[in-house]
Amino acid sequence: MSEGSRFVDWESERVASYFGVDPDMGLDEAETRKRREKVGPNQLAEGQKVSPVVMLINQFKDFMVLVLLAATLVSGLLGEYTDAVAIIAIVVLNAILGFVQEFRAEKSLSALKKLSAPTARVKRNGRWMRIPASDLVPGDIISLESGDRIPADVRLIHAENLYIEESALTGESVPVNKTDARLPQGDVPLGDRKNMAYLGTMAVRGTGIGVVVHTGMETEMGRIAHLIQSTETMQTPLQRRLEQLGKILIVVALALTAVVVLTGIIHGHEAYKMFLAGVSLAVAAIPEGLPAIVTIALALGVQRMIKRQAIVRKLPSVETLGCASVICSDKTGTLTQNKMTVTHIWTDGRQVQVSGSGYEPAGEFTIQGQKVKPASNPALKRLLEVAVLCNNAELLREGEKGKLLRRKQEKWRVDGDPTEGALLVVGAKGEVTQERLSGDWKRVKEYPFDSERKMMSVLVENRKGERMVFSKGAPDVLLNKCTHILNNGRKTPLTDALRSQVTETNEQLASMALRNLAFAYREWKGAEPQRESAAERELVFVGLAGMIDPPREEVKDAIRTCRRAGIRTVMITGDHQITAVAIAQQLGILTDRGLTVTGSELGRMGDQEFQKKVNDIHVYARVSPEHKLKIVKALQKEGHVVAMTGDGVNDAPAIKASDIGIAMGITGTDVSKEASSLVLADDNFATIVAAIEEGRSIYDNIRKFISYLLASNVGEILVMFMAMLAGLPLPLVPIQILWVNLVTDGLPAMALGVDPAEEDTMDRQPRNSRESIFARGVGWKILTRGLMIGACTLGAFWMVYNEAPDDLVRAQSVAFATLVMAQLIYVFDCRSSQSIFHRSPLSNKPLVLAVLSSVMLLFGVMYYPPLQPVFHTVSLGFREWALVIVGSALPTIAAGLLDTLRPVRRLAGSRG
Ligand code: ATP
Repeated sequence: MSEGSRFVDWESERVASYFGVDPDMGLDEAETRKRREKVGPNQLAEGQKVSPVVMLINQFKDFMVLVLLAATLVSGLLGEYTDAVAIIAIVVLNAILGFVQEFRAEKSLSALKKLSAPTARVKRNGRWMRIPASDLVPGDIISLESGDRIPADVRLIHAENLYIEESALTGESVPVNKTDARLPQGDVPLGDRKNMAYLGTMAVRGTGIGVVVHTGMETEMGRIAHLIQSTETMQTPLQRRLEQLGKILIVVALALTAVVVLTGIIHGHEAYKMFLAGVSLAVAAIPEGLPAIVTIALALGVQRMIKRQAIVRKLPSVETLGCASVICSDKTGTLTQNKMTVTHIWTDGRQVQVSGSGYEPAGEFTIQGQKVKPASNPALKRLLEVAVLCNNAELLREGEKGKLLRRKQEKWRVDGDPTEGALLVVGAKGEVTQERLSGDWKRVKEYPFDSERKMMSVLVENRKGERMVFSKGAPDVLLNKCTHILNNGRKTPLTDALRSQVTETNEQLASMALRNLAFAYREWKGAEPQRESAAERELVFVGLAGMIDPPREEVKDAIRTCRRAGIRTVMITGDHQITAVAIAQQLGILTDRGLTVTGSELGRMGDQEFQKKVNDIHVYARVSPEHKLKIVKALQKEGHVVAMTGDGVNDAPAIKASDIGIAMGITGTDVSKEASSLVLADDNFATIVAAIEEGRSIYDNIRKFISYLLASNVGEILVMFMAMLAGLPLPLVPIQILWVNLVTDGLPAMALGVDPAEEDTMDRQPRNSRESIFARGVGWKILTRGLMIGACTLGAFWMVYNEAPDDLVRAQSVAFATLVMAQLIYVFDCRSSQSIFHRSPLSNKPLVLAVLSSVMLLFGVMYYPPLQPVFHTVSLGFREWALVIVGSALPTIAAGLLDTLRPVRRLAGSRG
């Protein structure tokens, strides 16, 4: 029998005792520590990682570096030792810089992966707690619920309507209905082990409890881990496009270099010198640092996003974020605070006000100003009983769970769904608590909440063996399942008049922006029904509870920002239409022209009609997750780039189909998180807007250093090309070209990658996703600045050379200094899509530091005597420096003037 199927034909008690655990208590900390030491952490071994040494060696494998090394060899053989040594030094420096860039990029990427580490709910020392899944050990008792990724291999000891999707393991995409019973036969294939749940599979329905039997590499997933370890390369479309561009640039640079070399030789230059110049030029002209800098810009941008609570799961979405034109957001918890308080109850035909706020169970019940006690009001008492028993949350007082408490100022907190927490609080206000009721009632079966059904029920039994079904859910849904109502404390038939009284009250409460739940019960005789539809019928309606869920403070501003940025906000909620509209109006989502549509209206609408209206619908109410997919598709058909939030299992398809799938970090299920490309650590809508702003700024920064690097390279090639055409001597010697390349490709470009966002980042329309990287002035900038840098460097060279043709080294020194300085001035021009004067140069400190150190290095190679022969430089005088300064400032200033003749189109996108 295979090790994996060992426990399937054991009784669950035997499994527990085999692992030395009491399922009611779980393991204790000392025992878990011992076991962890023995079996190690619950992790799959990581795939092969590139070691730093290999990464460093890889730098020398680059084609261009090999060409350079060959050139060094040639120089060495020809006896040009200074050249050879200097080139080697530069190659090594270049490799170190490349290594640093790549290492940093790699480190930031692996830090990102750690952030999405899974957790597990485990029973330790008799208490449920949430721990990192890697801390699980065999024998741990864990709970599973719909939406969870299974954190280890477990033998189920309790399963309630539990369905697990095991396609990651078996390839079977239909979820398997799990059981806690022992199977008659032990040796069955993986797909038939119905009382086991395996690491990496997903619970899509129901709940369960299990004993961990295997962890880490011992799990079924661990056995096939080598199959799935091919770590996904996270390349963005832009990175791919840049890779292609890089290939084109290599060909162009090589062709131009060949032309320069040939022209030089035809004009009588020494073949060896031209060969060396050609090789250096080719190396300089190819922007080999580009991919690494793009990765760094993306990775550092992603880290800035993390600081703002947005966790990127898929790198390509960083780019897409900048194109987002519609955000579809859930209401509860994302636009609102998810801090529910029941303020109104309606039962027995009367409205009851509830005082108190937050989770503190202190408050009173009043009817028209008169205090009432639930103990003396049977309908109110029954309502609270249903609310507290048909409930999976826990109300905890501060200190009970020690370390887990985050908000010190709050005395009470809720573990579980905030809606259910609010019900426990209102129960406690009326002295109806889980502790008190647990003496009378025992839960026999649960029919879990799901957002499709919009309700939840439990079957409970009292000491006398009498059974009851307690249900709660969306009032309009629950009312349809009721045939009776509690009236004057007695069960009476639900007449049409009573039905419309309930509906009216519900609408009246909803128009006060309250989120309403209804409660019902029935007596139950006989065995428990397996299907919820059997239990949830012929119910007795008890009443309604309305809870406030205040909008988040910062969301109003975020929605205003979106409007300025050309991004539309759409609310999609499972809540009642009237509640949804009230909140949407408070937040400014619903304007006069905006439409509101309910799920059932959407269901009735034809596809064409919906398509016509989709641009005007601002609020979708009482929708099911399946509607979300329809909404995403219709918006995409209109050319929108759609960001869609979700938290439940059923939201996953819509999250996947959207351009930017967003999951909730706090309330979201593992399934929704895995489908998403962005996770909100604080579940907050405003975080989406912050992420979009970062996304736009990251893309802007990539454009900035592309315009910097490419214009610099164009300048370098042009100086040499024009000099050869004009029959002049080489204006730059190879070592100088390599130096320029090292100094400009390196630090300043990296500093541009972390440039702070421009103030108007969120005043622009979203970028069109098909836009070229050279659009909106970047191509123009590269051409004009590149041309001018080349021309001015050559001009400076020519003036000095013309005066003293014998002192070629002086003219070359001037050309060298002009080229470097021109690029270091131009780098500030790249920071703004407007003129160089638009932004203070001091607002990017790393850039100022990078430029200052480049200038210092330039002075070093020009004035430090031992370096002068290596770099073919001489100390320059005042007049020559004046020439250098004018020659290097001119490209940026003159091209800036040229821009005024051709106003750079700043607003992008056809959506305007
Ligand atoms: P949003 O979609 O904006 O998050 P929502 O939380 O109201 O809004 P769902 O969670 O799908 O959306 O809930 C839909 C409806 O189901 C709610 O309006 C409420 O009436 C009902 N409901 C919510 N939570 C529960 C629960 N735990 N038990 C029973 N019914 C619930």
